[in-house]
Amino acid sequence: MQLPGPSNLPERVLRAMSRPATDFAGPEFVALARSAIDDLRTVFGTAGEVFAYVTLGHGVWEAALANLVAPGETVLVADSGRFARGWRIVAEAIGAEVVPVEGDLRRAVDPAAIAAALEADRERRIRAVMVVQIETSTGIVNDIPAVRRAIDAAGHPALLLVDAVASLAVCELPMDRWGVDLAIAASQKGLMMPPGLGFVAVGPRAAERAEKGGAPRRYWDWRIRRGPESYEWFNGTPPIQMIYGLREALDMLLEEGLEKVLARHRRLADAVRAAVARWSEAGVVAFHATEPAERCDAVTALRLPEEAGADAIRVFCRDRLSVAFGGGLPPFEGRMIRIGHLGDVNEPMILGALAALELAFRRFGVDAAPGGVEAAIRSLAEASG
Ligand SMILES: *Cc1c(COP(=O)(O)O)cnc(C)c1O
Repeated sequence: MQLPGPSNLPERVLRAMSRPATDFAGPEFVALARSAIDDLRTVFGTAGEVFAYVTLGHGVWEAALANLVAPGETVLVADSGRFARGWRIVAEAIGAEVVPVEGDLRRAVDPAAIAAALEADRERRIRAVMVVQIETSTGIVNDIPAVRRAIDAAGHPALLLVDAVASLAVCELPMDRWGVDLAIAASQKGLMMPPGLGFVAVGPRAAERAEKGGAPRRYWDWRIRRGPESYEWFNGTPPIQMIYGLREALDMLLEEGLEKVLARHRRLADAVRAAVARWSEAGVVAFHATEPAERCDAVTALRLPEEAGADAIRVFCRDRLSVAFGGGLPPFEGRMIRIGHLGDVNEPMILGALAALELAFRRFGVDAAPGGVEAAIRSLAEASG
C-alpha cells in the first residue's frame, strides 16, 4: 500500500482492535478512551480540546465549520487543489459565503494573496481562513506559519482553520505554537488506523466562538460532547474497537517518539524524491510541485504525459506487482501517479515500491532515466537515523 491514504495497518493495531464487545460505561474502557483522546493533544501540539467523531475527513470538515460558521457568514478558502475544494463545497453547503483565494496548483498557497484578501475585507466579515496543510492531490505542503503571519499582518480577527488530515503525525504542526485555532484529522493516514474516526482539535478562540456561534447542528456540536460519560463524547455508542486501535497506534507513535516519526517521514520522502529526480532527468516524468521546498513528506505527485498511460501503469503495479499507488485527482486525471509514503512505512517498503514503479516504467516504455532506486538507496545511506 503506497496510497496517500488509507495507509498500511500495523499488525499491532489490527490485533488491538480484535476484541469482544465491552461495556463502554465500564471504568476500564472510559479511562482508555479518555487517555487516547487526550494523547491526541500531544500529537496536535495543543493544550486545547480534542473531539473524536465516528466519521471521515469529509465529516470533520463539516464538524469544524458547523461549530464556527453560521449560514450567511463569510469564510476565506485558500485553493490548493481537490481537498481545499472539497472543504469549500462543505462551507457552501452549510450556507457560508466563500471568498476564494486562487493560486497556481503547482505551488503552495500564496500568503500575500491571503493577506490582500483579508485587507480588502474592511468590515471584517471573514470569520475563518481555511487552509489545507498537505494538499494530498498535488503533494504540496502549505506554509501554515506564513498564513498565520499574513492574518496577523492584516490585523484581521479571522480564525485559522487547518486541514491536517494528511499531515498529522507526518510533518510538524504544533498548533498552539503556530497560532492555529483549529485543526482536523482522520484515522487512516499518519495515525495508521482504518478509516472511520475523525478528529477536531480546538483552541480557545475557536471554542469561545462555538459557544454562541456556528450553524444549527446536533451531532457535530462540541457543547454536547463534554462530560464524564464516553456516551457523551461520541454523542452515542463509542466505536469501542476503533478506540482500542487508536490507543495502540498512539502507543506506537509515542514509543518511537514524535520527532523521530517526523524524521522518518522526511527521510523516506527524501529517498522517493531522489528517485523521482533521477527519473525526471530524461524529461518525461516530472515532479508536479515545481518548487522543491514545497514538496511534502506524505505523498509525492509525479506528472506524466497523457500518452504515458499513468492509469495503466498503476493498474499493472497494483494487480501484477501488488503495490497500490494513487492516481491523478481532478483536474489531473490520467496524468499523475502519486506515491504515498505516510504512516507505517519503512525503508524496504519504500525501496520495493520504487523498484516496482521503475520496472513498470520500463515495461510500459516510459522514458525515465534509469537508476531511481539507486538514487534512493544513496539518499538513505547518507541520511541519519
Ligand atoms: C484524505 C484527505 C481528506 C478526506 O478524508 P476522508 O477520510 O477520505 O473523508 C481530506 N483532506 C485531506 C488533506 C486528505 O488527505
